[in-house]
Amino acid sequence: MNNSIVNFPCPANEPVKSYLKGSPERIALDAELERQYNTEIEIPIIIGGKEIRTGNTGKVTCPHEHDHVLATYHKVSEKEVNMAIEAAMEAHKEWSRTDWTVRAAIVLKMAELLATKYRPIINAACMLGQSKNIYQAEIDSACETIDFFRYNVHFASKIYSMQPKNGVGNINYTEYRPLEGFVLAVTPFNFTSIASNLCMSPVLMGNVALWKPSTTSLLSNYYLMKLYEEAGLPAGVINFLPGSGALIGNTCTASHYFAGIHFTGSTGTFNSLWNAAGANLGKYISYPRLVGETGGKDFIFVHPSADPKAVATAAFCGAFEFQGQKCSAASRMYIPKSLWGDVLGRMKELASEVKMGDVMDHDNFINAVIDQASFKNISSYIEYAKAASDAQIVIGGKCDDSKGWFVEPTVIETSNPHFKSMEEEIFGPVLTVYPYDDDKVEETVKLCDGTSPYGLTGAVFGRDRMAVQKIADDLRYAAGNFYINDKPTGAVVGNQPFGGSRASGTNDKAGGEFNLIRWVIPRVVKETLVSPTDYRYTYMK
Ligand code: NAD
Repeated sequence: MNNSIVNFPCPANEPVKSYLKGSPERIALDAELERQYNTEIEIPIIIGGKEIRTGNTGKVTCPHEHDHVLATYHKVSEKEVNMAIEAAMEAHKEWSRTDWTVRAAIVLKMAELLATKYRPIINAACMLGQSKNIYQAEIDSACETIDFFRYNVHFASKIYSMQPKNGVGNINYTEYRPLEGFVLAVTPFNFTSIASNLCMSPVLMGNVALWKPSTTSLLSNYYLMKLYEEAGLPAGVINFLPGSGALIGNTCTASHYFAGIHFTGSTGTFNSLWNAAGANLGKYISYPRLVGETGGKDFIFVHPSADPKAVATAAFCGAFEFQGQKCSAASRMYIPKSLWGDVLGRMKELASEVKMGDVMDHDNFINAVIDQASFKNISSYIEYAKAASDAQIVIGGKCDDSKGWFVEPTVIETSNPHFKSMEEEIFGPVLTVYPYDDDKVEETVKLCDGTSPYGLTGAVFGRDRMAVQKIADDLRYAAGNFYINDKPTGAVVGNQPFGGSRASGTNDKAGGEFNLIRWVIPRVVKETLVSPTDYRYTYMK
């Protein structure tokens, strides 16, 4: 019996380790990189805590060395998806009634395990499988994942403590019930932390999940499953289903027990899941919760008063860190003509300094893009720009797939604010820049607001604070996460809850209580202490 009201105060963010040469973390990570690089593992399906091997397999390879196999994984068929629904609903019986402090303890144990024993394991898996350098892996797989665990426990405690007032002679309270069914978590390749959070935020609130991991992040995602098991998560609460997204999505959305989707990925995929849920609406117990963070066409808007050096650094890091494969990555920039020469010069210097290559060589700032499909897609935009009369490549532009999927950091300059790469999401290291006449700030702000259907992240640079404020206000619907004099990437849990609207998602802000509240269905209970026994109003007596 637990009758204590446990406090979970706001935690501190997990410190980012330095990985200096000779540091204990660097030694442990390098040893783990060697181990994982030299050991081909088998990744099973996990349903109800049991490993399942269908024999229908695929390969996990290094993006920066596409012939090097890291793992063989087993794919689900419709049969395994239905088994997972059954296992999840079985687990729901106990997990949905488990004392929330026990759920919190399990999640906080996950944070401790990841901060210690699992840190090198999951960082190395993310580096090899998703082609991130040490720093990019550390801020994602270790720090952000740990922050999600710890902050969500704090946010959950705030939600549970939101209670109505009592009336005269009665007691009122809200029970935050988990959804009546299972949540389908469909996760992207680009952030291990998002893959973790899409399952764990509903699970913390007492839900059960079917997890469809991205095929190109299976290695780190499989080790997350191992961590969850070690932290004491009961069997069947999360069921791990590698395989075809369409098959899993269609089978889940056809189930009576489908209660919600927690999705991050492209807008097209989320729309197809939403449509499938809409088409099956009559089958469900309740209206499903559809939560999705999707694509972006994130911008930097530069005012003539901006510091060119700050703009160049922000544009370079905002567009090219992790090869531009962050949903928040800057991919279009509007800059006054008077500043563009300086900024371009500085960006060229930076481009000549950075190295591109394998993640095991820690001098490399740029690694590979995720897979062949992505490589082809990004290359096609670069080729399009090369052939266009209203655009030119001013930095980079070379693509090389001989060993890995390598694309140079590329800047396209255009005189056409509606040039294809100013409007469409590319999801790679490509920044398109539109230099505008210095006296056309207002018209250009309108262009920036109306050019793309997305509304994820954006940044404004300027030293004239009043002018910056006007731009920020005029662009208030253009981004769900907006930055002043900073790059539009790098949101930190608890500091900048993350998400966008328009075609960028439902804006339920991962890393905040808005998200967690989507995974509960409140029941308000009124208890009358002495029940009335006479129907007459007072004045009738
Ligand atoms: P994706 O849409 O290709 O894949 C996302 C997930 O959906 C994967 O697990 C994939 O296997 C699965 N999937 C694919 N087709 C499916 C279908 N028909 N039914 C069900 N599931 C299906 O996206 P991605 O390439 O993994 O990630 C890149 C995209 O994610 C970009 O558009 C990026 O902007 C977006 N993203 C957004 C955010 C955000 O917070 N807004 C964060 C990260 C990534």
